Amino acid sequence: MGTIYAIANQKGGVGKTTTAVNVAACIAAAGYETLVVDVDPQGNATVGLGVSRENTPGVYDVLAGDIDARDAVRPTGVERLSILVSTPDLAGATMELPRLAGSETRLREALEPLREDYAFILLDCPPSLGPLTVNALVAAERVIVPVQTEYFALEGLAGLLDTLAAIQRDLNPRLTVAGMLLTMHDARTKLAQDVEREVRSHFPALVFDTVIPRNVRLGEAPSYGIPVIHHDPHCAGSEAYFELAKEVAARG
Ligand code: ADP
Ligand code: MG
Repeated sequence: MGTIYAIANQKGGVGKTTTAVNVAACIAAAGYETLVVDVDPQGNATVGLGVSRENTPGVYDVLAGDIDARDAVRPTGVERLSILVSTPDLAGATMELPRLAGSETRLREALEPLREDYAFILLDCPPSLGPLTVNALVAAERVIVPVQTEYFALEGLAGLLDTLAAIQRDLNPRLTVAGMLLTMHDARTKLAQDVEREVRSHFPALVFDTVIPRNVRLGEAPSYGIPVIHHDPHCAGSEAYFELAKEVAARG
């Protein structure tokens, strides 16, 4: 049975999508059937994996109950890596979901059969704690929380952990935090060093040893529609995400 990870933080631009796409690619490269579910209406994971958002079923149709998730899964250009895409109509789901029966558990139920097909399922969450993120956190067993090592990094993290605890209590007892991930780290700056120290001391044991550096290749890979390890396998970003994937698997 596959393990479902949500990549979540209500802040935008902290590296959620980059982490979902690139951890998934590293796991696929290690030989495991892997699925990315693009739960963000912005569709950055879909585009970043070179998959079209038009004229295709996706997460929206699955949540609406119009199609089985297995029939909506699409291949990517990467071997062993598939995707359930974000189509533009997913933006409306935030309004529509709360009106549907069992609105918080729809993604979990839809993904259940896919756990037989994939060793790892990674859910890329939108930058909010709205209904789509709640669906992802209810479906997931583990959460990875990317944290950018910049000023205000800690802001919002306590609230996010409260939300995770509430979801664990009320909706998903199996949910645990896989780890917090320091991203876009610039080790040369004192600020980044201070933030790393602060996050590690606030959340001992929760923070992954691996730190993702700020890396030009990581930023440009999505414009080619490929994960960084296929764009430049030896760059610092590729090495970091390989290390992280190992750590994620080891913690699992
Ligand atoms: P989120 O999904 O949390 O909004 P993204 O993963 O989309 O964040 O990252 C925000 C932007 O920063 C994107 O343009 C992405 O390509 C870029 N980016 C993410 N991680 C890095 C990194 N480690 N180094 C350089 N650029 C990065
Ligand atoms: Mg994103």
